[in-house]
Amino acid sequence: GAFKGCQKIRGPQLRNLLEAKDFILLDCDGVLWHGEKAVTGAATVVNSLIRNGKHVVFVTNNCTRPREKYVHKFSRLGFTDVMLEQIFSSSYCSALYLRDVVKISGQVFVMGCEALRSELQEAGVSCVEEAEDPDATIYNCPLAPDVKAVLVGHDDKMTFLKLAKASCYLRDPDCLFLATDIDPWHPLSGGRILPGSGSLTAALEVSSGRKATVIGKPSRFMFECISSQFEGVDPAKCLMIGDRLETDMLFGANCRLDTMLTLTGVSQTKDAEEYRDSELTTNHSFVPDYIVDSIADFLPAFEE
Ligand code: PLP
Ligand code: CA
Repeated sequence: GAFKGCQKIRGPQLRNLLEAKDFILLDCDGVLWHGEKAVTGAATVVNSLIRNGKHVVFVTNNCTRPREKYVHKFSRLGFTDVMLEQIFSSSYCSALYLRDVVKISGQVFVMGCEALRSELQEAGVSCVEEAEDPDATIYNCPLAPDVKAVLVGHDDKMTFLKLAKASCYLRDPDCLFLATDIDPWHPLSGGRILPGSGSLTAALEVSSGRKATVIGKPSRFMFECISSQFEGVDPAKCLMIGDRLETDMLFGANCRLDTMLTLTGVSQTKDAEEYRDSELTTNHSFVPDYIVDSIADFLPAFEE
């Protein structure tokens, strides 16, 4: 019919869907865990998928951890079979973009956290050193002469001076403007929220009068990274699972993947149905093909 998507799926149907897929792309926060707390059953599901021969890859917009730290986090939370090569974070993919797509010569000015800088350095991309001078202001601070890109990501040490410097570098039309992701905010416990990379990107877009190129979800680039690092990635045999319609489901739609929303995170069924029933056809890219309550709904699929 006219209104496709949002199919609640479980039992044998879910088992058949998994049968048909080679690659399972998993968002992390909101699907596998909330901060430091694993979603009940998630680790068993991920370990079972891997042991059943599925290619499992993780696509996360969280740029605050280098990939090695992700491996530790997975293992600490009970996801014992996860390897570095399975992890595609917005910081790692930003490094690949700068190294392999842009082939950057010169330095990158990072308005982001330490992990982002270290991921770039790991890829051989050089960053402007963070100035330590507490008296520095935008009136007197030095600016590096060879900055060829500004990269914005989540930054819990964001300062006015960093914003001002980044804005100055972006006056040069040959200086690229990249954002790890443009997530608006993230849920914390107790009803609090964490402003996301998107809020900092927005500030810099206003002060520079420019638009950032987005690396993370919903941009297709993360899928290109996966395709380039694994053999025979066929979009028709991929399933993208996430908790946020505007990032995860749109990412899946942009890459022509089947999509599944889990209800353990940001978006709920009524949000998905609103997009589905919208007159505006561009809204249909936010609609998941399938909905499950939790990734734990996969558990029976692995039982005999
Ligand atoms: N960025 C930051 C800084 C976060 O804290 C989070 C979630 O906690 C995310 C991004 C979203 O991560 P994911 O794409 O795994 O949901
Ligand atoms: Ca998420």
